[in-house]
Amino acid sequence: MSAEAGVVYLAGAGPGDPELLTVRALRLLESCDVILPDDLVSDEVLALADGPGRLQPAIVVPVGKRCGQPRITQAGIHELMLLHAGAGRSVLRLKSGDPLVFGRASEEIAALTEAGIRFEIVPGITAAFAVAAALKTPLTDRGAASKLIFATAHHAAAKDGGGGLELTPKWEGAFPRDATLVVYMPGRRFGLLAEELRAAGIAGEMPCVAVSKASTKEERVTRTTLAGLGEAEVGEAPVILMIGWAIRV
Ligand code: SAH
Repeated sequence: MSAEAGVVYLAGAGPGDPELLTVRALRLLESCDVILPDDLVSDEVLALADGPGRLQPAIVVPVGKRCGQPRITQAGIHELMLLHAGAGRSVLRLKSGDPLVFGRASEEIAALTEAGIRFEIVPGITAAFAVAAALKTPLTDRGAASKLIFATAHHAAAKDGGGGLELTPKWEGAFPRDATLVVYMPGRRFGLLAEELRAAGIAGEMPCVAVSKASTKEERVTRTTLAGLGEAEVGEAPVILMIGWAIRV
């Protein structure tokens, strides 16, 4: 199946390794007229857009927003999607991992719906699943974890582009003992994060793994405990944290 004119594909590019793309995402990369990738979409993935089957090169417009310093606003991304789809082009809006996990997809879906543009969602492998595979550790375990919690330590500012990100996570309520907690966008204040999680009732000796650049050549794994997280040497962003008794250290 190749891309249809005037349709926006909100697709996941997986965690970085092109081998972890879905066949559908690959076909769309090879056939869409316009590609709007986020920062975390790897160069190796984008290189696949230049496949031999192309009649003309794709228009590639990177629309990433690094560390809350927007090069392009969310509204700017909406404008680009509407402009190109409205002109009859097929548009691949490519997000890292899965497009519906911490990807501000609701705003893009609302903009497309309001403008009456046809769109489709193409799932991808979210970072948590790639990390679990790399660590060879199950996220659930009959004896240790019957729940999986995907959380983020960042809260987006109310106004797009203004105010940046709040780095101090607010954890409310107690975390269940039998859960694996996966923290996306943990920021760099690991000591503070660990303190807040311990204040929410998570034991300091609970295994904690920080994985940087999972599924890429620079992948770095730091194994520690929640109590040791503040002192641990964690690799560069993107980093994901996994905390729980099911995570073997
Ligand atoms: N939609 C994406 C998440 C976007 S939020 C998904 O489903 O994976 C961005 C966060 O994802 C990063 O801050 C980091 O916590 C995590 N992440 C994405 N790719 C990663 C990778 N290759 N290695 C480690 N963490 C990653």
